[in-house]
Amino acid sequence: EKDTGTFLDWEGNSRGSRRNMGVLSVRSALVTGANQGIGLGFVQHLLALPNPPEVLFAACQDPKGQRAQELQKLASKHRNLVIVPLELTDPASIKAAAASVGEHLKGSGLNLLINNAGILRKNTLDNETPKDMSEVYATNTIGPLLLSQALLPLLKKAAQGSPVSGLSCNKAAIVNISSSGGSIKEIQSWEVVQAVSYRCSKAALNMVTRCLSLGYREHGILCVSFHPGWVKTDMGNIDGYTPGCRALPGQPLGTHACVSPSALQAQLTVDESVGGMLKVLSSLSEKDTGTFLDWEGNVLPW
Ligand code: NDP
Repeated sequence: EKDTGTFLDWEGNSRGSRRNMGVLSVRSALVTGANQGIGLGFVQHLLALPNPPEVLFAACQDPKGQRAQELQKLASKHRNLVIVPLELTDPASIKAAAASVGEHLKGSGLNLLINNAGILRKNTLDNETPKDMSEVYATNTIGPLLLSQALLPLLKKAAQGSPVSGLSCNKAAIVNISSSGGSIKEIQSWEVVQAVSYRCSKAALNMVTRCLSLGYREHGILCVSFHPGWVKTDMGNIDGYTPGCRALPGQPLGTHACVSPSALQAQLTVDESVGGMLKVLSSLSEKDTGTFLDWEGNVLPW
């Protein structure tokens, strides 16, 4: 009786929510932090869609630098990929990026903004600093808000020109890549990494999502927060956490009783995470705006 209407995997675990997955089809999209990790994954997956965007903006801090090599290679093969310089802690850079996106779009709107870029400082509760609190907040919270504001006219234009009724990612949407680490109700992985500045910035980003969803609903723009899962990227690499994340003084990472070594490995590949999120994005509608979801479509506690 209790299982009717549930969505199970081959082991009988309850997976994700039962969603009608559609097909993501957008004329234009912008991804921040697009040179590596999950952001680069979004770019690769969007380019590989059956109906890829006519214009895909890949925003990164240093388009000509070493770290953007993969992106440069992709841009040489895909004429629809446009690399845009963007430093999220600099409001002038955000304005310039939005202006350049507007010029490229030549009068049409922007369907999808993925605020993916972010930073994590591995500080503990005891050694968290005002400088790191500010830098992480500026990057993870203020940056996405300012970029959403700057791109609002283009998102509105996309919504106005869309034949799609109701809210949909195929019409106009802002997707904030948050983290379950920002959940206040269910604190995740405290024993592994405390990162107070990161947790606060993502909790605040979730509030930004709620506010955007309230303010932009009338413009036809859907807004959600996503937890991408624990993903094998530079940020998701636990090795780097070791120095700063001793849960108890004097106990190195991995020796803490409640953390098993297997619990210290990121479980998801970028492909799995991004593939999951894009499927979920294709299924979102009016009722989903202002929610906090994971890469499988589960609703997460704030
Ligand atoms: P990475 O560290 O691999 O990539 C982060 C990206 O953000 C890079 O492209 C980086 O650019 C960019 N970035 C950082 N600071 C700025 C800035 N000031 N202006 C513009 N761009 C900036 O991280 P992931 O791919 O793992 O993470 C992507 C998102 O997913 C983040 O928001 C993260 O918080 C979230 N997340 C990740 C998880 C994981 O397990 N990996 C788990 C939960 C959430 P550059 O390369 O030039 O530094």
